[in-house]
This record gives sequence, C-alpha cells and structure tokens, in this order.
Amino acid sequence: MAPATAINPDLVQERKNATINSEEFAIWWAGGSNELYKKREMAKLFYEDPQFVDHQHIANMSHKELYEYTTEKAVRFLLKLREYLKKQQPEAAPLTPIEEMYELRALMGGPLGSGLFPANFPLRLHYSMFLPTLLRQASDEQCKLWLEKAWNFDGIIGTYAQTELGHGTYLRGLETRADYDIEKQEFILNSPTLTSYKWWPGGLGLTVNMVVLMAQLYIKGRSYGFQPFLVRIRNEKTHEPEPGVDVGDIGPRIGLNGVNNGYLGLKNVRIPLNQMLSRNNQVLPDGTFVKGPEPLLLYGTMVYVRVMIVRDVSVNLLQAATIATRYSAVRRQGVEAGGQQETQIIVVVRSAGPMFEYHPPFGTILAIFKKIKSVKNFVKILKIPIVALILGSKRRRGPA
Ligand SMILES: Cc1cc2nc3c(=O)[nH]c(=O)nc-3n(C[C@H](O)[C@H](O)[C@H](O)COP(=O)(O)OP(=O)(O)OC[C@H]3O[C@@H](n4cnc5c(N)ncnc54)[C@H](O)[C@@H]3O)c2cc1C
Repeated sequence: MAPATAINPDLVQERKNATINSEEFAIWWAGGSNELYKKREMAKLFYEDPQFVDHQHIANMSHKELYEYTTEKAVRFLLKLREYLKKQQPEAAPLTPIEEMYELRALMGGPLGSGLFPANFPLRLHYSMFLPTLLRQASDEQCKLWLEKAWNFDGIIGTYAQTELGHGTYLRGLETRADYDIEKQEFILNSPTLTSYKWWPGGLGLTVNMVVLMAQLYIKGRSYGFQPFLVRIRNEKTHEPEPGVDVGDIGPRIGLNGVNNGYLGLKNVRIPLNQMLSRNNQVLPDGTFVKGPEPLLLYGTMVYVRVMIVRDVSVNLLQAATIATRYSAVRRQGVEAGGQQETQIIVVVRSAGPMFEYHPPFGTILAIFKKIKSVKNFVKILKIPIVALILGSKRRRGPA
C-alpha cells in the first residue's frame, strides 16, 4: 500500500484557524532560532538514518528481546551522537564532559529521546545518577581515578543503588551496612535482611558493573548514618557477579522496560577505604570519622532526578495533549440533528468552552516545562569548573 502523504483536510482547516504562528511558537519553545535549528538537525540526523528504524514494534518483543534490542540501539545512538558532537566542535574548545552530559540529558528527556527509545534509554542511570553522584560526592582524587573512565565507559558502567525492598522514602531506615575494618582498612558490605536488598536501580539487572551504593556506615559498631560507596559488582572482563554479590533483573514492569531495573544483595563484600566517596564526609585509616561541611544534600542525586522526572513527564503530557487534540480534529463521530456529515469531536470540545480553558492542564504543563528549563541549574550546584579542571577540558561557553 502506498504511504498516505496527503494531510487530512480537517487538520488543514484547524491549522488555518490558529490564532498563533506555529513557527514563532516553536522558536519560543526551543529557546531561540539557533536552538530550534539544532533540535531539528538532531532529529533529522537520527530519524533519517535507516539504522534507527524499528522493524518490529516493542510491544511484540519479549522482555529479553526488548532488553537486547534497546541496549544495542543505545550503543549505536551514543556512538553516532559523540561523533556528531565532535564534528560540531572546534578543536580548540571541545565540549566538556559536563556540557556533553547536559546535551545528552536534554536530548533524552525530549521528544527525540522518547521517539527513539519508547521503552526508555538503557544507559540512562549511568548519565543521570551515577556520573552526577561521582561529580558531587567524590573527592578530587577519587574523580581523577574514576570519572574519566566512567565517562568513557572504560571498564565502568554504573548506576545508583539507594532504594531497598523495604525502604524507599524513609531513608534513615536503609539497612545495607558498611562496617569499617580498621586492621585491613576496608569496608565490609552486607545486606543483612531480605528487606535490605537493593530494589529498583536502573541498569542493575544486567547492564552495569559498578554501583554507587548508599549504606549505613558503622565504625567500631557505632553508626555514622548513610554514606555513598563505590562498589564493583560485576567483573570488568567477564561481567560475572563478583564474589558475595547476588544481582539480577526484577522482571517486566508496566513501563520503562528498556531500563532494566534490578536487585542487589551483598554478603561480606570488601572494598578499600578509598571507595567511600569522600567529598563531604571521610573515614581516616585509624577509623576516625571526619564530618565534612554540611553537604547540600547527601541524597541530592535522587532529588535532582525527581525534578528531571517532572520535566520529562511534562514533555510526555504535552505529547499526549497534542495527540488528543489532533485526533479530536480528524475524528468524526455521530451526526448532529439535520446534519449530513458526522461531527468532528473537536467541535463538541469547543462548544464546551475555549480550548485552553477546557484544557487547563495544557497551560500548566507548558509553564512547568519552561520553569525547569534545563539541567544547567543543577550543573551550577555541582561546582562544574572543578570537574572540568580535573578532566583537563576547556569550557566552550561561559559559566552555566
Ligand atoms: C521506574 C523506577 C525506577 C527507579 N530507579 C531507581 C534507581 O535507579 N535507584 C534507586 O535507588 N531507586 C530507584 N527507584 C526507587 C524510587 O526511588 C522509590 O520508588 C521511591 O524513592 C519511593 O520509595 P518506595 O517505592 O519504597 O515507596 P514508599 O516509601 O513505600 O512510599 C509509598 C507511598 O507512601 C508515601 N509515604 C511514605 N512515607 C510516608 C509518610 N511517612 N507519611 C506520608 N506518606 C508517606 C509516599 O509518598 C508514597 O506515595 C526507582 C523506582 C521506579 C518506580
């Protein structure tokens, strides 16, 4: 069958009736003509590339097929994106990893991300939680050791493991333990109960080989509250779980199945002293706990991601509102008294009041999205210049 190229005449008529110029709106929405141009270039780059055409709908795939397909597509996507960004940048002033992270985050949270990855992006947690936590919680020395490797996926693919089967919102209730062994200068990590198993972290199921683990710190049996630890859970070469690590996939969920959420239990897993992230708090070799300046938010990564979820959901809601509005324009249903043709649903909607009054959420969502403009505010909190220095990159733009 030949593809339908003609635009539905009802839609054409509705567009003629518009009281705003859609191109002007698009420019405002994108944040300027340049931004809109960039956005459209990026969409063309991926939508017109045959390697990103889905030949099977994800609804027809098994859980395993969906995971394998989405992960492979994500790797192709990242390779192409990095190549594209490299070409765009003058040699003298390449994007810093942070700026690249911002570009990627904005991209994945927008329509292109949801268009290309309807089951979501499998390496999302690496970018949205693992790297930001390293940036915010690791000391400069620790950043030097791990950040660049993590950025380049050089033996490190990570996620953020905070939530437990029995503990989500109530953070003080977390049960995972990190007991400091003064003699060996190591932490011993344990999940003492079933309810202490980490549950939900994205990518944990099958993909990642390292986690930032939030665990209760104990020194000589005394509790010092929960702290972040960097833990290798799968072997860098074989990808097999490390000794004492019980890890797996929590199985199909009603959505976001490309993210591969997982569970994690630990039994006497030992990590060296320098793997407690110590930008804020620190343990000295002799077991002295040094409390740092009050961290802005020890669990700031989680708060940040929640803000981003509101932003992403606002995009999804706007997409749904657009689909509903277009559909109500082209869908005709029922005949009014004496009428020959069936009535457009949008006519019924309009008769109930002006469009934006009838759909108050539409305006509200627009406002929310514009408010949570970008990740840039968070980047400020992360004290990015320090990290840019550590990674030895030049900043392309002025301060975020
Ligand atoms: C798709 C998905 C991905 C996730 N990814 C990650 C991840 O990568 N890493 C990670 O660590 N976690 C992750 N999580 C876990 C997520 O952060 C938690 O689900 C969240 O923190 C809430 O915890 P909970 O599910 O245990 O709910 P609960 O804490 O049991 O809360 C259930 C409900 O009760 C309310 N409630 C709780 N306590 C109170 C109270 N005292 N008074 C009044 N109301 C209360 C809550 O607001 C909520 O509405 C993910 C979750 C999902 C669904």
